[in-house]
Amino acid sequence: MITRTPIAVHCEEVEPEAPVSDTPLGDWQRQLRDVIRDPAALCRHLGLDFEWSSGARRGHDLFPVRVPLAYLSRIRRGDPNDPLLRQVLPLGAEGDAVRGFVDDPLEERDHTPKPGLIHKYPGRALLIASPTCAINCRYCFRRHFPYADNAPSMREWERTLDYLREDDSIREAILSGGDPLASPDRRLAALVERLEAIPHLKRLRIHTRLPVVIPDRVDDALLEWLGGSRLQKVMVLHINHAQEIDEAVVAACARLKAAGVTLLNQSVLLRGINDDVDTLAALSERLFEAGILPYYLHVLDPVSGAAHFDVPDDEARDLVDALRQRLAGFLIPRLVREVPGERSKTPL
Ligand SMILES: *Cc1c(COP(=O)(O)O)cnc(C)c1O
Ligand code: SF4
Repeated sequence: MITRTPIAVHCEEVEPEAPVSDTPLGDWQRQLRDVIRDPAALCRHLGLDFEWSSGARRGHDLFPVRVPLAYLSRIRRGDPNDPLLRQVLPLGAEGDAVRGFVDDPLEERDHTPKPGLIHKYPGRALLIASPTCAINCRYCFRRHFPYADNAPSMREWERTLDYLREDDSIREAILSGGDPLASPDRRLAALVERLEAIPHLKRLRIHTRLPVVIPDRVDDALLEWLGGSRLQKVMVLHINHAQEIDEAVVAACARLKAAGVTLLNQSVLLRGINDDVDTLAALSERLFEAGILPYYLHVLDPVSGAAHFDVPDDEARDLVDALRQRLAGFLIPRLVREVPGERSKTPL
């Protein structure tokens, strides 16, 4: 077992605010709007005290705090080391400049042939279907991505889609972001309708964290355009810790599966959050209970501001080896890194 690194914020017990669970959550659009955007308020909700440091200030200015209430309700009160809290709370360490940690670690800016499209790997192309996310994860490799330049209008989409129409080696369209499911269903349905009209496209993949952080996102309107599509449907969720999967998430996953969606999960290996074998084993078990197969375990992309989450490669390999001693083969995620210029994710 690896001991958890102590948190670097000053969090003390303070008088808790009214529990969040007393507040009705409302529909998903409202929940998306009513996210917590202030680290001090976030800590207050959890009975913790927050003190600004220059690093946290810089981190928050560059990549502001965003936490949906449905996610907040799964964070343990009074615990500054809670593994969900640590994913969303900016720390002083975000201000540290660390050699090798840069703004665009994946060099994605070199692979955007059309606005909103990233084509790096053969056979599949990634569409930035929404510039925003419901939650801002502090370790995110896109924390400095120039979304404003990559948020095409519906008319611009047509030119982006021409790229897919003209390349019949592309079999799979991946909706990514930001979080694609932060877009309204109207817009997504129109986009998917256009994708369906491209004969060589076989699969629609959606990379999203929304069914996890706001399970109410999986509503009838979403299931209608998604379930009705002729394309084979794969959803790659993003869950890093078993505690993120509550009963509402399990129910959302059941609805997606009933609509014919294959559910996979990708995680990021994060110091102090899931960097021990018990936590990773519990995550795989819980994912499968919810009908989700572990797909990737990513080592951290070296994005500036996230170096404190880094787990060295040797340790990452040992962790996955230990996991293999414990779990069925299909519960072992592939440990990978994204190397700029490679034509696939690189196994470690
Ligand atoms: C990760 C990624 C994909 C998907 O890769 P898979 O190995 O098929 O999951 C596609 N395009 C880009 C740009 C990616 O970063
Ligand atoms: S949901 Fe995904 S894209 Fe959005 S901030 Fe988190 S890791 Fe980044």
